Amino acid sequence: MVPPWGSPAAHGAVPGRVVVLGGGVVGAACAWRLAGRGHRVVLVDPVPGGGASRAAAGMLAPVSELHHGERELLELGLLAAAGFPRYVADVERAAGGAPTGYRACGTLVVALDAGDRARLADVRRAQERLGLDVRALTGRECRRLEPLLDPGVSGGTLVRGDHQVDPRELLRALRAAARDRGVEHVAETGEVLVEDGRASGVRLAGGAVLRADLVVLATGARAHPHAPVRPVKGQVLRLRMPPAGHLLTRTVRGVVRDRDVYLVPRRSGELVVGATTEERGFDEAVTAGAVHDLLRDAQALVPGVAELELVEVLARSRPGSPDNLPLIGFGEVPGLLLATGHHRNGVLLSGITADAVAALAAGEDVPPEVAACDPGRFGSRTAAREEVRAR
Ligand SMILES: Cc1cc2nc3c(=O)[nH]c(=O)nc-3n(C[C@H](O)[C@H](O)[C@H](O)COP(=O)(O)OP(=O)(O)OC[C@H]3O[C@@H](n4cnc5c(N)ncnc54)[C@H](O)[C@@H]3O)c2cc1C
Repeated sequence: MVPPWGSPAAHGAVPGRVVVLGGGVVGAACAWRLAGRGHRVVLVDPVPGGGASRAAAGMLAPVSELHHGERELLELGLLAAAGFPRYVADVERAAGGAPTGYRACGTLVVALDAGDRARLADVRRAQERLGLDVRALTGRECRRLEPLLDPGVSGGTLVRGDHQVDPRELLRALRAAARDRGVEHVAETGEVLVEDGRASGVRLAGGAVLRADLVVLATGARAHPHAPVRPVKGQVLRLRMPPAGHLLTRTVRGVVRDRDVYLVPRRSGELVVGATTEERGFDEAVTAGAVHDLLRDAQALVPGVAELELVEVLARSRPGSPDNLPLIGFGEVPGLLLATGHHRNGVLLSGITADAVAALAAGEDVPPEVAACDPGRFGSRTAAREEVRAR
């Protein structure tokens, strides 16, 4: 099939020049995979990894993130989670053995009071109806798995298949792997250059123009106006656990008097506690109230949190889309491939997005779970894409 982005130099097996705008976990993964297909790739980002990817907790959690009515996101997340071990193994190998912090440790979701238990049971019924691997636990069974949980924890759900990765390590490894494949990095802000109705490259803040056969837009929450994304603010804490005897062995998520909180323990001793979800436009200020609320709820589940060193407080913008599914595919402007809108799941979905972008760039089909993320669902589709479909 002829790829829908026009340049004869880039058709089929003949690789072309690609500029990836944005070097978060999604853009870095796309750059690496595209370079692996033989494209000459330039990654443009003034602060690669400085966006939402820097804040992310790294939960790979399609099952515990299940929200009513988000069936397509669940299917996409399950596919991504199934492919994650191969993805991180590929990245680690390509990065000369650099770690990604992937841990197949599972997730325990716990409830504090009777209302929280009822909410968890409601979600569990939905998970069971969908045939997902979840198991109801009593409070005592939860404490058997995680002895430092508060005696007030009254029940929970064990989600054996929801694991974790360290997004900062993953990104470091992706960048090393991309460099090794010849991806060039330009440390500037850029904007998509549209000429004669198609994306012909990227104009850098300094005025220089990088011409390209294809532009991949991976600027996360900053992808507007090319993609209908909005910033969803998340504040998150990083604490340090003592070297001897970590507090938790697996990710613990909880409902505390109807509020959500999670604790993600890493092998390194880092404990990530998050996160707020705030619709406030672009705002990276950390607030006393958010720090207070997160620590209060984390301590309600695991009192030992009070003893830990608080190392970092960070706020970043998740790239939210109107239906919470990402936008992966050709949008309104021919020559422009969107890879954004990953909202709460961009780390989980980074590998599957990169595979899809590389496939779409070559005119190949993508799995149905990814095809559901076609930006055309919002009423925009490139003329070039239609052309390909009409053949
Ligand atoms: C608190 C919090 C916790 C999260 N936890 C999880 C989690 O546990 N699991 C999970 O899967 N996801 C999680 N997420 C979501 C995840 O972080 C995002 O979905 C993911 O990072 C999106 O990656 P991205 O590469 O699209 O965007 P970003 O990481 O935001 O990267 C975008 C990049 O584009 C660059 N950029 C922007 N504009 C320009 C421009 N004009 N020119 C050049 N470069 C530009 C920025 O510098 C940035 O580096 C969390 C998010 C937050 C905020």
